Amino acid sequence: MDLILRKGRVLDRDADALFDIGVEKGRIVAIEPDLAAEGEEIDLGGRMVTPGFVETHIHLDKSCIIERCGSEQGGQAMAVKRVAAAKPDFTVEDVRERARRTLEKCILNGATHMRTHVEVDPGVGSRGMEGVFSLVEDYKWAIDIEICVFPQEGLACNPGTEALMTAALKSGAATVVGAAPGYEEGDHNIQIDRVFELAREFDVDIDMHLDFGNTPDDMDIMHVCDLTEKYGYGGRVAVGHMTKLSVAPPEQLSPIVKRLADVGVTVTVLPATDLFLMGRHQDHSVLRGVAASWRRMNWCMRASIAHCPRTTS
Ligand SMILES: [Zn+2]
Repeated sequence: MDLILRKGRVLDRDADALFDIGVEKGRIVAIEPDLAAEGEEIDLGGRMVTPGFVETHIHLDKSCIIERCGSEQGGQAMAVKRVAAAKPDFTVEDVRERARRTLEKCILNGATHMRTHVEVDPGVGSRGMEGVFSLVEDYKWAIDIEICVFPQEGLACNPGTEALMTAALKSGAATVVGAAPGYEEGDHNIQIDRVFELAREFDVDIDMHLDFGNTPDDMDIMHVCDLTEKYGYGGRVAVGHMTKLSVAPPEQLSPIVKRLADVGVTVTVLPATDLFLMGRHQDHSVLRGVAASWRRMNWCMRASIAHCPRTTS
Protein backbone atom coordinates (compact mmCIF):
# COMPACT_ATOMS: atom_id res chain seq x y z
CA MET A 1 0.00 0.00 0.00
CA ASP A 2 1.06 3.58 -0.51
CA LEU A 3 0.45 4.55 3.10
CA ILE A 4 -0.62 2.82 6.30
CA LEU A 5 -1.79 4.83 9.29
CA ARG A 6 -1.27 2.61 12.35
CA LYS A 7 -3.16 2.58 15.64
CA GLY A 8 -5.78 5.32 15.27
CA ARG A 9 -9.18 5.74 16.87
CA VAL A 10 -11.76 5.92 14.11
CA LEU A 11 -14.87 8.05 14.43
CA ASP A 12 -18.08 5.98 14.72
CA ARG A 13 -16.17 2.79 15.56
CA ASP A 14 -15.33 1.19 18.90
CA ALA A 15 -13.71 4.03 20.86
CA ASP A 16 -11.57 1.57 22.85
CA ALA A 17 -10.16 -0.16 19.77
CA LEU A 18 -7.23 0.95 17.61
CA PHE A 19 -7.43 0.57 13.84
CA ASP A 20 -5.00 0.66 10.95
CA ILE A 21 -5.98 2.55 7.82
CA GLY A 22 -4.62 1.55 4.43
CA VAL A 23 -4.38 4.10 1.60
CA GLU A 24 -3.80 3.39 -2.08
CA LYS A 25 -3.77 5.96 -4.87
CA GLY A 26 -5.15 8.60 -2.56
CA ARG A 27 -8.08 6.51 -1.36
CA ILE A 28 -8.78 4.61 1.86
CA VAL A 29 -8.98 0.92 0.93
CA ALA A 30 -8.93 -0.77 4.35
CA ILE A 31 -9.79 0.04 7.96
CA GLU A 32 -9.10 -2.84 10.32
CA PRO A 33 -7.08 -3.75 13.42
CA ASP A 34 -3.55 -4.99 12.72
CA LEU A 35 -3.79 -4.54 8.95
CA ALA A 36 -1.50 -6.98 7.20
CA ALA A 37 0.14 -4.77 4.60
CA GLU A 38 3.42 -3.11 3.80
CA GLY A 39 4.22 0.42 2.78
CA GLU A 40 5.11 3.77 4.30
CA GLU A 41 3.75 3.85 7.83
CA ILE A 42 2.73 6.59 10.25
CA ASP A 43 2.10 5.68 13.89
CA LEU A 44 -0.95 7.67 15.08
CA GLY A 45 -0.41 6.71 18.70
CA GLY A 46 -4.14 6.39 19.42
CA ARG A 47 -5.12 9.78 17.97
CA MET A 48 -8.63 10.17 16.53
CA VAL A 49 -9.16 9.92 12.77
CA THR A 50 -12.20 11.64 11.24
CA PRO A 51 -13.33 12.66 7.78
CA GLY A 52 -12.09 16.11 6.78
CA PHE A 53 -14.10 19.05 8.08
CA VAL A 54 -16.20 21.20 5.78
CA GLU A 55 -15.97 24.97 6.32
CA THR A 56 -19.24 26.05 4.76
CA HIS A 57 -19.10 29.80 5.34
CA ILE A 58 -16.00 31.94 5.64
CA HIS A 59 -14.74 35.22 4.16
CA LEU A 60 -11.09 34.73 3.27
CA ASP A 61 -10.92 38.06 1.42
CA LYS A 62 -11.55 40.12 4.54
CA SER A 63 -9.95 37.96 7.20
CA CYS A 64 -7.16 39.29 9.47
CA ILE A 65 -8.09 42.99 9.20
CA ILE A 66 -9.14 43.67 12.80
CA GLU A 67 -6.29 46.17 13.20
CA ARG A 68 -7.71 48.16 10.26
CA CYS A 69 -11.30 48.23 11.58
CA GLY A 70 -12.31 49.81 14.86
CA SER A 71 -15.17 47.91 16.48
CA GLU A 72 -16.07 50.33 19.26
CA GLN A 73 -19.82 50.03 18.64
CA GLY A 74 -20.12 46.50 17.31
CA GLY A 75 -23.17 45.31 15.38
CA GLN A 76 -23.35 44.07 11.83
CA ALA A 77 -24.10 47.41 10.15
CA MET A 78 -21.03 49.00 11.73
CA ALA A 79 -18.90 45.95 10.87
CA VAL A 80 -19.81 46.23 7.18
CA LYS A 81 -19.21 50.00 7.22
CA ARG A 82 -15.76 49.63 8.77
CA VAL A 83 -14.75 46.96 6.27
CA ALA A 84 -16.13 49.03 3.38
CA ALA A 85 -13.84 51.88 4.43
CA ALA A 86 -10.84 49.55 4.48
CA LYS A 87 -11.53 47.83 1.15
CA PRO A 88 -10.21 50.51 -1.23
CA ASP A 89 -6.74 49.84 0.19
CA PHE A 90 -6.91 46.09 -0.47
CA THR A 91 -4.45 44.89 -3.10
CA VAL A 92 -4.40 41.44 -4.72
CA GLU A 93 -1.19 40.60 -2.83
CA ASP A 94 -2.58 41.88 0.47
CA VAL A 95 -5.76 39.77 0.08
CA ARG A 96 -3.77 36.71 -0.93
CA GLU A 97 -1.42 37.00 2.04
CA ARG A 98 -4.19 37.45 4.63
CA ALA A 99 -6.35 34.76 3.05
CA ARG A 100 -3.40 32.38 2.96
CA ARG A 101 -2.82 32.78 6.70
CA THR A 102 -6.43 31.95 7.49
CA LEU A 103 -6.58 29.15 4.94
CA GLU A 104 -3.52 27.45 6.44
CA LYS A 105 -5.09 27.62 9.91
CA CYS A 106 -8.22 25.94 8.53
CA ILE A 107 -6.16 23.19 6.88
CA LEU A 108 -4.15 22.61 10.05
CA ASN A 109 -7.42 22.23 11.95
CA GLY A 110 -8.67 19.57 9.55
CA ALA A 111 -10.76 21.37 6.92
CA THR A 112 -10.62 19.66 3.54
CA HIS A 113 -13.54 21.47 1.86
CA MET A 114 -14.39 25.16 2.03
CA ARG A 115 -16.90 27.60 0.60
CA THR A 116 -15.59 31.15 0.91
CA HIS A 117 -17.72 34.18 0.17
CA VAL A 118 -15.88 36.89 -1.74
CA GLU A 119 -17.31 40.36 -2.25
CA VAL A 120 -17.02 42.50 -5.36
CA ASP A 121 -18.07 46.13 -5.79
CA PRO A 122 -16.60 49.35 -7.14
CA GLY A 123 -14.68 49.89 -3.86
CA VAL A 124 -12.64 46.70 -3.99
CA GLY A 125 -13.12 45.85 -7.67
CA SER A 126 -12.13 42.28 -8.39
CA ARG A 127 -8.98 42.41 -6.22
CA GLY A 128 -10.51 40.29 -3.46
CA MET A 129 -11.60 37.74 -6.02
CA GLU A 130 -8.18 37.62 -7.68
CA GLY A 131 -6.35 37.29 -4.37
CA VAL A 132 -8.49 34.41 -3.10
CA PHE A 133 -8.72 32.66 -6.46
CA SER A 134 -4.92 32.57 -6.67
CA LEU A 135 -4.94 30.21 -3.67
CA VAL A 136 -7.37 27.64 -5.11
CA GLU A 137 -4.81 25.93 -7.31
CA ASP A 138 -1.89 26.35 -4.91
CA TYR A 139 -3.68 24.59 -2.08
CA LYS A 140 -5.74 22.03 -3.95
CA TRP A 141 -3.43 19.30 -2.62
CA ALA A 142 -4.99 19.94 0.81
CA ILE A 143 -8.41 21.50 0.34
CA ASP A 144 -11.17 22.04 -2.22
CA ILE A 145 -12.08 25.74 -2.22
CA GLU A 146 -15.36 26.94 -3.69
CA ILE A 147 -15.82 30.70 -4.22
CA CYS A 148 -19.22 32.36 -3.81
CA VAL A 149 -19.25 35.86 -5.30
CA PHE A 150 -21.67 38.28 -3.65
CA PRO A 151 -22.59 41.98 -3.30
CA GLN A 152 -21.92 42.79 0.37
CA GLU A 153 -22.68 46.49 -0.11
CA GLY A 154 -25.78 46.15 -2.28
CA LEU A 155 -26.47 45.24 -5.89
CA ALA A 156 -29.19 47.48 -7.31
CA CYS A 157 -28.03 50.38 -5.11
CA ASN A 158 -24.36 49.98 -6.01
CA PRO A 159 -23.83 50.43 -9.77
CA GLY A 160 -20.91 48.50 -11.20
CA THR A 161 -21.29 45.59 -8.78
CA GLU A 162 -23.34 43.40 -11.07
CA ALA A 163 -20.79 43.62 -13.88
CA LEU A 164 -18.08 42.45 -11.48
CA MET A 165 -20.26 39.56 -10.28
CA THR A 166 -21.02 38.53 -13.83
CA ALA A 167 -17.33 38.66 -14.76
CA ALA A 168 -16.42 36.42 -11.81
CA LEU A 169 -19.09 33.89 -12.81
CA LYS A 170 -18.22 34.05 -16.49
CA SER A 171 -14.53 33.44 -15.81
CA GLY A 172 -15.34 30.41 -13.67
CA ALA A 173 -13.47 31.82 -10.66
CA ALA A 174 -16.77 31.92 -8.78
CA THR A 175 -18.90 28.78 -8.95
CA VAL A 176 -21.60 29.91 -6.51
CA VAL A 177 -23.54 33.18 -6.42
CA GLY A 178 -24.45 34.90 -3.16
CA ALA A 179 -26.47 37.79 -1.85
CA ALA A 180 -26.84 40.16 1.07
CA PRO A 181 -30.26 41.74 0.50
CA GLY A 182 -30.26 43.22 4.00
CA TYR A 183 -27.75 45.78 2.76
CA GLU A 184 -29.77 46.74 -0.29
CA GLU A 185 -31.19 50.24 -0.15
CA GLY A 186 -34.86 49.75 -0.92
CA ASP A 187 -36.66 46.56 -1.89
CA HIS A 188 -34.71 43.45 -0.89
CA ASN A 189 -36.56 41.38 -3.49
CA ILE A 190 -34.84 43.23 -6.32
CA GLN A 191 -31.50 41.77 -5.26
CA ILE A 192 -32.91 38.33 -4.47
CA ASP A 193 -34.66 38.12 -7.85
CA ARG A 194 -31.55 39.20 -9.73
CA VAL A 195 -29.34 36.70 -7.91
CA PHE A 196 -31.72 33.88 -8.83
CA GLU A 197 -31.55 35.08 -12.45
CA LEU A 198 -27.74 35.01 -12.36
CA ALA A 199 -27.75 31.55 -10.78
CA ARG A 200 -29.98 30.20 -13.53
CA GLU A 201 -28.03 31.95 -16.26
CA PHE A 202 -24.73 30.41 -15.11
CA ASP A 203 -26.23 27.20 -13.66
CA VAL A 204 -24.63 27.71 -10.25
CA ASP A 205 -25.81 27.19 -6.68
CA ILE A 206 -26.93 30.03 -4.40
CA ASP A 207 -25.73 30.98 -0.91
CA MET A 208 -27.34 34.08 0.62
CA HIS A 209 -26.69 36.10 3.75
CA LEU A 210 -30.25 36.39 4.93
CA ASP A 211 -32.53 37.66 7.66
CA PHE A 212 -29.94 39.04 10.04
CA GLY A 213 -31.64 41.04 12.78
CA ASN A 214 -32.70 41.27 16.38
CA THR A 215 -36.44 40.98 15.67
CA PRO A 216 -38.39 38.54 13.48
CA ASP A 217 -39.87 41.32 11.31
CA ASP A 218 -39.74 41.69 7.53
CA MET A 219 -38.14 38.34 6.78
CA ASP A 220 -36.99 37.57 3.24
CA ILE A 221 -36.89 33.81 3.61
CA MET A 222 -40.36 33.04 2.26
CA HIS A 223 -39.58 34.89 -0.98
CA VAL A 224 -36.37 32.88 -1.31
CA CYS A 225 -38.36 29.67 -0.75
CA ASP A 226 -40.94 30.71 -3.36
CA LEU A 227 -38.24 31.30 -5.99
CA THR A 228 -36.47 28.06 -5.04
CA GLU A 229 -39.70 26.18 -5.68
CA LYS A 230 -40.60 28.14 -8.81
CA TYR A 231 -37.26 27.47 -10.49
CA GLY A 232 -36.78 23.90 -9.24
CA TYR A 233 -33.72 24.98 -7.26
CA GLY A 234 -34.35 22.72 -4.25
CA GLY A 235 -31.10 21.39 -2.78
CA ARG A 236 -29.11 24.19 -4.42
CA VAL A 237 -29.91 27.09 -2.09
CA ALA A 238 -28.31 27.84 1.28
CA VAL A 239 -29.08 30.78 3.55
CA GLY A 240 -26.61 31.91 6.20
CA HIS A 241 -27.12 33.60 9.59
CA MET A 242 -30.94 33.63 9.72
CA THR A 243 -30.68 35.15 13.19
CA LYS A 244 -34.31 36.28 12.94
CA LEU A 245 -35.27 32.62 13.33
CA SER A 246 -33.72 32.70 16.80
CA VAL A 247 -36.13 35.40 17.96
CA ALA A 248 -39.24 34.13 16.15
CA PRO A 249 -41.95 32.60 18.37
CA PRO A 250 -42.88 28.97 17.61
CA GLU A 251 -46.07 29.89 15.73
CA GLN A 252 -44.01 32.01 13.34
CA LEU A 253 -41.03 29.66 13.20
CA SER A 254 -42.96 26.45 12.43
CA PRO A 255 -44.34 27.34 9.00
CA ILE A 256 -40.95 28.73 7.95
CA VAL A 257 -39.15 25.56 9.00
CA LYS A 258 -41.69 23.40 7.19
CA ARG A 259 -41.35 25.52 4.05
CA LEU A 260 -37.53 25.29 4.19
CA ALA A 261 -37.75 21.50 4.42
CA ASP A 262 -40.41 21.22 1.71
CA VAL A 263 -38.58 23.26 -0.92
CA GLY A 264 -35.03 22.18 0.01
CA VAL A 265 -33.38 25.34 1.36
CA THR A 266 -30.50 24.79 3.81
CA VAL A 267 -29.79 27.05 6.78
CA THR A 268 -26.15 27.68 7.70
CA VAL A 269 -26.00 28.57 11.40
CA LEU A 270 -23.08 30.89 12.15
CA PRO A 271 -22.55 31.06 15.92
CA ALA A 272 -19.03 32.52 15.83
CA THR A 273 -20.25 35.61 14.00
CA ASP A 274 -23.72 35.89 15.42
CA LEU A 275 -22.78 35.55 19.09
CA PHE A 276 -20.33 38.43 18.48
CA LEU A 277 -22.63 40.73 16.50
CA MET A 278 -26.10 40.12 17.89
CA GLY A 279 -27.69 41.79 20.89
CA ARG A 280 -25.38 44.80 20.75
CA HIS A 281 -28.36 47.02 21.60
CA GLN A 282 -28.77 45.30 24.98
CA ASP A 283 -26.83 45.82 28.21
CA HIS A 284 -28.36 42.87 30.09
CA SER A 285 -30.17 39.62 29.26
CA VAL A 286 -28.36 39.81 25.93
CA LEU A 287 -29.91 37.55 23.31
CA ARG A 288 -27.71 34.93 21.71
CA GLY A 289 -29.12 35.41 18.21
CA VAL A 290 -28.10 31.99 16.95
CA ALA A 291 -30.62 30.24 14.71
CA ALA A 292 -32.14 27.18 16.34
CA SER A 293 -30.56 23.80 15.89
CA TRP A 294 -32.20 21.33 13.57
CA ARG A 295 -33.37 19.39 16.64
CA ARG A 296 -35.39 22.38 17.90
CA MET A 297 -36.65 23.29 14.44
CA ASN A 298 -37.69 19.70 13.90
CA TRP A 299 -39.52 19.69 17.21
CA CYS A 300 -41.21 22.91 16.28
CA MET A 301 -42.29 21.52 12.93
CA ARG A 302 -43.67 18.32 14.45
CA ALA A 303 -45.49 20.35 17.09
CA SER A 304 -46.98 22.47 14.34
CA ILE A 305 -48.12 19.46 12.34
CA ALA A 306 -49.61 17.87 15.46
CA HIS A 307 -51.74 20.96 15.95
CA CYS A 308 -52.72 21.23 12.32
CA PRO A 309 -56.43 20.35 11.86
CA ARG A 310 -55.70 18.67 8.52
CA THR A 311 -53.48 16.04 10.08
CA THR A 312 -55.46 15.47 13.27
CA SER A 313 -58.90 15.13 11.67
ZN1 LIG B 1 -20.77 35.69 5.71
